[in-house]
Amino acid sequence: MLNFIKQWFADEPIGLTLPEYKALSNHTGKIQTLPIFDKYYISLLQRDGEKAIPCVKVGDKVKAGDIIACPTSHMALHRHAPTSGEITGIVEIRETHASEMVTYALEITSDGLDTPTDDFTPITDYQHTDREALLKRIFRAGIAGMGGAGFPTEKKINLSNPVETLIINGAECEPYITCDDILMRYHAEAILRGAKIFAHILRSKQILVGIEDNKPEAIAIMQEMAEKLNHTDGQADSNNDCPITVKSMPTKYPMGSRHQIAHYLLGRKPDIRKRSYQSGFVCHNVATAKAAYDAVVLGRPLTERLVTFSGDGVEKTGVYLTKCGSDFADIARTIGVAQQCDEIIFGGTMMGFAINPNHPLPIVVKRETTSVLAFANRPLHTLKQPTDEQNCIRCGECANVCPMDLLPQQLQFYGRSGNHDKAQENRLFDCIECGLCTYVCPSDIPLVQIFQHSKGEILAERKKKQAAEQARIRFENRNARIEAEKAERARKSAERRAKLKAQAEEKEKQKAMTTDSTGNIGKANSQASQTDKKSDKADLIAAALARTQAKKAKLAKTTETESSVVQDKENNVGVE
Ligand code: SF4
Ligand code: SF4
Repeated sequence: MLNFIKQWFADEPIGLTLPEYKALSNHTGKIQTLPIFDKYYISLLQRDGEKAIPCVKVGDKVKAGDIIACPTSHMALHRHAPTSGEITGIVEIRETHASEMVTYALEITSDGLDTPTDDFTPITDYQHTDREALLKRIFRAGIAGMGGAGFPTEKKINLSNPVETLIINGAECEPYITCDDILMRYHAEAILRGAKIFAHILRSKQILVGIEDNKPEAIAIMQEMAEKLNHTDGQADSNNDCPITVKSMPTKYPMGSRHQIAHYLLGRKPDIRKRSYQSGFVCHNVATAKAAYDAVVLGRPLTERLVTFSGDGVEKTGVYLTKCGSDFADIARTIGVAQQCDEIIFGGTMMGFAINPNHPLPIVVKRETTSVLAFANRPLHTLKQPTDEQNCIRCGECANVCPMDLLPQQLQFYGRSGNHDKAQENRLFDCIECGLCTYVCPSDIPLVQIFQHSKGEILAERKKKQAAEQARIRFENRNARIEAEKAERARKSAERRAKLKAQAEEKEKQKAMTTDSTGNIGKANSQASQTDKKSDKADLIAAALARTQAKKAKLAKTTETESSVVQDKENNVGVE
């Protein structure tokens, strides 16, 4: 408790010094390369659970960096071919996620040439380029948070109001991981120029770069470069009104979380209920800044990144330039990952997730994959297993170390009992999943995994409710539309009937007016018509009678003639 009180009132953020194991992968101090593999897999699953829409078909030829699938929502990203070759199918892979859910990916068969795309023209004069054009480039190039979050960068910097401070995060506080350290040593200029692009878009007044003091080489190189850029290096740089300061920070986990780094660099604790920009800062990882520079100035979309491969199960540990979409099985064969590993972790021992090493489907490196660790003998400090667990003894250690001032023991009770309302009341969503509570728990309770699970359930519930709400709104809108159409039809029909009736009445009126002007309109008309009918009939009868009489007269005349002939014949017989 004393420790907690001391930390709470301290000027510096809360955190723990963990064993580092960094020398396992940064011992060479170099960026290592991997060969071009035969196959690459680009997942179509977006952050929002929807699928990106492929804009290529099987058999199409692609170049490295060509857009091959488009996002379906504003929180998703374009997908790019990591190398040149041919689209050879849409296949099943395991999603690079704790759930390892099976999803679909575009399969690219490499031609081995790695021909780059010419779809992205370099924007060298970014200082005089419109903000919108830069934002569009960052979006289309698929730039996402490369510190592990994978959040679309364009969304984070597309803000209507200026943001005073841009923080560039070079803390890299997780044990084992060293890719940012090596990146800073090799690409200091690209990182800081990328930071200037962000600052230009955000209209910031200062850039603060925070690096943990366990990376002295990186700190020295970055400070030298910042100095050079601040005093103009021969190349025109109109952003010099936004100076860069590189600060060394104590090595204390989780210094890389945005709250902790902002607390340290700004000297004040940001309000955790607010978004960063509402507290006057925006934080980006060093690799994200470098990716933004590549996309804007070099016209290269994000198709590869530095990844740390480490752990006692890896023969050739190191930091490797790795294409996104590389199957871990291919990498494991190249760098010598032991066949029988106790544990393979994607993303670090504190915040990462373990995968099943014997699964038959590919699992790939993505934009946000910082590291893959393989352990032949699982060290004690790695992810806790449910089988290790014992009862909570209410020691309070988890609360003492929580950098977000949460009560992890309470949260785990609510999480386990499915009491999501209480968990949310106790600020479950403020948990940054740093894993410190799990690390210190003497009962080996996998606290952070419980929180991840609870969050997943709550988000799924929310999504379900949202979908039901949308379905209800759609249903009500449909009913309202049908009713409106029915009412419109009835109105038109009534209008038509009224019009016809009025026309008929008008016609009748006109007729009556022309027939009789005495006032006895209806009767006169009727009598006239009846008289007409009667006279017509009489005429017809008279004509028929006349025809009958004429026939009779004709017949009588014929009979008379015949009888006189007979008489004459009889008379003639007497004479002879
Ligand atoms: S550290 Fe573990 S045992 Fe101690 S209170 Fe927290 S959950 Fe319980
Ligand atoms: S509750 Fe969350 S934020 Fe707090 S220590 Fe645990 S994982 Fe970290």
